[in-house]
Amino acid sequence: MTAEGGLPVLRLPLPEGGADLEGEVAPGALGLDEDPWIRPDGPLVYRLRAEATGGGQILIRGAARLRLNARCSRCAENFSTITEDPAFFRAYACPDGLESIPFGEDVREELLVRLPQVLVCQPGCRGLCPQCGQNLNQAPCGCTGPEGDSRWSGLEGISW
Ligand SMILES: [Zn+2]
Ligand SMILES: [Zn+2]
Repeated sequence: MTAEGGLPVLRLPLPEGGADLEGEVAPGALGLDEDPWIRPDGPLVYRLRAEATGGGQILIRGAARLRLNARCSRCAENFSTITEDPAFFRAYACPDGLESIPFGEDVREELLVRLPQVLVCQPGCRGLCPQCGQNLNQAPCGCTGPEGDSRWSGLEGISW
């Protein structure tokens, strides 16, 4: 098995006519336990097909998805999201003596790469007030913003 333990591999040789690779990877096998931003909310589900090409390669293609519990980087609330690849496609070279192809690692990697760099619960998330910590999606707070409260702007320029 691979160091990742639990991620699926394709055993070689590939059967004549290819192989269907369908299954689920348990959340605990995804190596995300230490991640502060995302947590699997169910198994990684994959439906793939492996086929040999004339050129001695094996193509693996199909679809995979993973539901996640993510933490919004603006308001710190948890929200549910899905990362999926409807058209996973990898070509693997298969030198003589190769025993398995660790496609599960690549599927996992692909799904994580597809997550946005900055996770937000909704495109217009207002985040937290930098002064009082109020979640501004839920209610406004009474703090003056960093630009200053507009009620006072008329006083700018007055010398006391
Ligand atoms: Zn948010
Ligand atoms: Zn505030």
